[in-house]
Amino acid sequence: MTLIMGVRRPTSSRLTLALTLAVSTVPAMNSARGGNEKLQYPTANTQLERRPSAFYMFTDRNFEGSKSTPWQGGQYGFVRTPQRTKAGVIMTKFHEGMDVAPVNRDGSGEPRDPVMSMAAGKVVHTNSTSSKSNYGQYVVIQHDFDSGPFYSLYAHLNSISVKPGQIVKPGSQLGILGYTGVGINKRRAHVHVELNMLLHSGFDRWHDKTQTTPNHHGVFNGINLVGVDVSKILASKRGASIQRMVKALPVYYKVLVPNTGKIEILKRYPWLGKASNAPAYEISLSGSGIPIEISPHKSKVEYPVVSWVRYSPTYHKFYTKNRLSGTGSTAGLTKSGREYIDLMIGAF
Ligand SMILES: [Zn+2]
Repeated sequence: MTLIMGVRRPTSSRLTLALTLAVSTVPAMNSARGGNEKLQYPTANTQLERRPSAFYMFTDRNFEGSKSTPWQGGQYGFVRTPQRTKAGVIMTKFHEGMDVAPVNRDGSGEPRDPVMSMAAGKVVHTNSTSSKSNYGQYVVIQHDFDSGPFYSLYAHLNSISVKPGQIVKPGSQLGILGYTGVGINKRRAHVHVELNMLLHSGFDRWHDKTQTTPNHHGVFNGINLVGVDVSKILASKRGASIQRMVKALPVYYKVLVPNTGKIEILKRYPWLGKASNAPAYEISLSGSGIPIEISPHKSKVEYPVVSWVRYSPTYHKFYTKNRLSGTGSTAGLTKSGREYIDLMIGAF
């Protein structure tokens, strides 16, 4: 793994103390506003709670020579690629969405399930060329929720029946479930469903600077979308608050960043924190990189620096999608970690 040169070891005790004081004096922001987001099932498969083994599409696992097909690999979260570590066997690969198994196959085993929008919204992106994305053919819908704009994404489709700009209702058909894209076949056909925050409108520029492959998807490239636990919202019949769910996530690390004035997620999701003239912000993130809180900070930093990390007996990379290096109570941003934070703060 490549490390960014010059990234400092994060937690000197003085810095930690200063951070603790600063954080504790920042009032809780927008905690009164809740939001109430409701989703409906994206296909006729509604077994999420009663029979999760029938709801989720299994993954093919080969761990230390033993093969299995765990349905748990279709869930949202760190559910894939087990590694044996000092902390036991841990799942190191994060799955941004849920893989919903088909309930309708024709005589030749082709899935026929219609895929539907989980909520009212607008079609903002369709990709009908399977080879242009690991997602294969996919559709993105923008939902203007109380918690801000969220983007549901439906991937590996066999066909798409909507166009960008089209308004959809909950249950509007978007296409047919399939197995287009990478790492999928007829046997494991499913719809991969995400519910995302959007990081930055300048994504194209960031992509040009950091990636070698062309971007065919504008701001709706998966790298610019940060998935929240869609199954949790789907499972709450009366609706749930995405912002409350995000704010309750355990913080895995914090990063001090310069105040670029270009942190768009502060405007898009004001419950993350208040825009400020302070020289810096401290961003609290989950292991998967979901921003949980953004607090003004009086430190002067020229580039993102890890200011706190949860203790881990094994490598932080396993818990952070390879964005952090180090173990124990020390961590630094890896190259991809630095690029990710730069995208989030508009520093590109
Ligand atoms: Zn998936």
